[in-house]
Amino acid sequence: MLTKAPRGTKDILPGEVEQWQFFEEKVRELCRLFGYAEIRTPVFEHTELFLRGVGEVTDIVAKEMYTFTDRGERSLTLRPEGTAPVARAFLEHKLYGAAQPLKVYYIGPMFRYDRPQAGRYRQFHQFGVEVFGAMEPSLDAEVIALSLYVFRALGLEEFTLQLNSVGCPLCRDAYRICLQEELKDKLSRFCPDCADRIHKNPLRILDCKQESCQELTVDVSLMLHKLCGDCAEHFAAVREAMDALGEPYVVNPRLVRGLDYYTKTAFEIVSPVLWAQSSLGGGGRYDHLLATIGGPDVPGIGFGIGIERVLLARAAAGRVLPESKLTDVFVATAGNVSAAAALRVVIDLRGQGVAADKDYLGRSLKAQLKFADKKQVRYLVILGDEEMKRGQAMLRDMQTGSQSGVALTDLTSMVARLVKEANR
Ligand code: AMP
Repeated sequence: MLTKAPRGTKDILPGEVEQWQFFEEKVRELCRLFGYAEIRTPVFEHTELFLRGVGEVTDIVAKEMYTFTDRGERSLTLRPEGTAPVARAFLEHKLYGAAQPLKVYYIGPMFRYDRPQAGRYRQFHQFGVEVFGAMEPSLDAEVIALSLYVFRALGLEEFTLQLNSVGCPLCRDAYRICLQEELKDKLSRFCPDCADRIHKNPLRILDCKQESCQELTVDVSLMLHKLCGDCAEHFAAVREAMDALGEPYVVNPRLVRGLDYYTKTAFEIVSPVLWAQSSLGGGGRYDHLLATIGGPDVPGIGFGIGIERVLLARAAAGRVLPESKLTDVFVATAGNVSAAAALRVVIDLRGQGVAADKDYLGRSLKAQLKFADKKQVRYLVILGDEEMKRGQAMLRDMQTGSQSGVALTDLTSMVARLVKEANR
């Protein structure tokens, strides 16, 4: 047990971390272009935030939260998603007083007590964006488009954008009653989860993965056809904006998503690369979330993308980056030259911006050269007794095999110049 990470968690090891850094570089650059600033919130929040924000009857809150009582008897929860914490920060710091809309993004771990399997973890990571303070449908299109640009920037082309409108409290409450009415005679035939959902959250029955439940709802009325005038108009304008961007989508009237706070636009990006209809990310509008958690009625919209899923999809598409090379120059010692002398040279090289390293195990020269070779360094500096007496070191280009003596006084500046040229 001591030598195993907790179930559903994963170490990201050197050699894998390049994929993560690449992901982060790409999304940070896209966010800069789209005008989003980074926000970092704590990994735990008051439990109440998620109970009220995400909704008590959602699967996330009812079954998947990591909730604990701290030493001060407070109930805290490791964040299962990013939107409610960002909304809380928006209220706490009265960011609604700043110029609107406020556009932010986050990258960080989320925690859900999910059943671990490929692409599903208990600690996973999301990149997400949130925009507060604007209702305009062109914003919905921008947010959706940003998520699509993320996938493309990461070399993923095989995905489908699914789009729906889940209405607003006005039309959804009426629809909920209508759905309950239509399903009430079939109650006993649903799976236990759905039987429960009929009372608490009937919309979620529509995206139950059980085939038998799906069959029972094939001909029910759908929210999309029961939208109020305002919601219908908004949805049409979002579609128009997506068309104007030339971004294809499919309308999926059964898309409801697992969080209660969504209003109007809901979307999901699914891919066949990992498993049929695997979800890479999704989001939507949440015009009343801020009011729900005690703030002003400021509208918002955002999405969350699962980083592990995207990296798995990249791997499946053969887009794995090679492990990055850490060391450009290895400084070896021969004869009686001390390790401290090598450390001096290594530190000087680093001071010139050169990634340099040395041996720390007292290896023989032969073993040092073997190690340098394994590290695939470009240049090797050898500090030997004879050369040092003459004020020189040996410099070897590992790629060409050429070798020459270099004055110690010129060594760091010369090596720095060569490495810069080689890395250009
Ligand atoms: P959600 O917040 O449930 O809409 O999830 C957004 C995205 O996060 C999903 O599309 C997945 O890519 C990812 N995701 C959600 N739950 C998990 C999990 N348990 N493990 C890995 N990724 C997840």
